Amino acid sequence: MAKQNKAYKFRLYPTEEQEIVIHKTFGCVRFIYNKMLSERKETYDRLKDDKETLKKVKHPTPAKYKKEYSWLKEVDSLALANAQLNLDKAYKAFFKGNAKFPKFKSKRHKQSYTTNVVNGNIELLDRHIKLPKLKIVKMKQHRQIPVEHNMKSCTISMTASGKYYISILTEYEKEIKGKEIQSVVGLDFAMDGLFVDSETGKKANYPRFYRQMLDKLATEQRKLSRKKKGSSNWNKQRIRVAKIQEKVANQRKNFLHHTSKEFVVNYDAIIIEDLDMKGMSKALQFGKSVADNGWGMFTSFLLYKLHEQGKQLVKIDKWFPSTKTCSSCGSVKEVALSERIYHCACGLNLDRDYNAALNIKKEGIRLLAIA
Ligand SMILES: [Zn+2]
Repeated sequence: MAKQNKAYKFRLYPTEEQEIVIHKTFGCVRFIYNKMLSERKETYDRLKDDKETLKKVKHPTPAKYKKEYSWLKEVDSLALANAQLNLDKAYKAFFKGNAKFPKFKSKRHKQSYTTNVVNGNIELLDRHIKLPKLKIVKMKQHRQIPVEHNMKSCTISMTASGKYYISILTEYEKEIKGKEIQSVVGLDFAMDGLFVDSETGKKANYPRFYRQMLDKLATEQRKLSRKKKGSSNWNKQRIRVAKIQEKVANQRKNFLHHTSKEFVVNYDAIIIEDLDMKGMSKALQFGKSVADNGWGMFTSFLLYKLHEQGKQLVKIDKWFPSTKTCSSCGSVKEVALSERIYHCACGLNLDRDYNAALNIKKEGIRLLAIA
């Protein structure tokens, strides 16, 4: 039996009083995160040439700051402990070379805090949830959490337009039998759209209403930029933009959930290239459109949905020449970015992304066979 995780997100409707407590907690979490980070930064600047000593430095815990700033005691202490854990994680990722040095959190960051479930401090009630320091908060629970799921932690957040949400992380035991692989599909990441699959050669793209919403967002953002910052019209427009952004994010997420589910239902193994999106966006100067494309979110949905069913996601090396190889005869040649069709001396003439998807599939099957 393996432990599985699943998160459930619901809308919260705190009272004014509860809102004050939530905001105070956001503030304290940010404060302590930044405090701890500035100490680490100092230590790092002092010792960066002496990695061995740097590794041994004991970093302060929230307890130290609570003595100094007693108002920190007024909020959920687990939220503060989690701020430390988050910083630890960010710091470790930095040392492993996977991320930049952690940044200070500003009020403009997404406002959130995470608390843990211990000794019945959090309880699901009828249309409400009991939370530390907040007591009973109204919640719209649009779906049931199965009884065999144990709640582990809760993240309370507020969107830019002022809506509150809670994401409840649960853990449950489930026996997952590896599924025999009979159907395989290769997906080639597509810059303009999402991907091209090896079975149809068609490009998966976001629905039209989503792209229209993106245009609307751009229009409203332009309007915002023309208003006087801080004025009441600016503020109204800022909220309008935030609401559209939230809508766009939801539409994208829904589409990616839907699309990934469809592929997971139809295939036992899905092969993709292991793309480092950050590196890629830098290298190709595509910047924003790569980050917004949703490929990262899509592959994470694929991964957990496949895993739940004992199916596989195979990532092939990003240096694998998927674009340069002929999917028919296997010969390799240079292909310019502008060449939309792959022409080969063997007679193959195929859409470049379709050709790449076929190569990705083949390589995945090869890897699966030797695994
Ligand atoms: Zn060929």
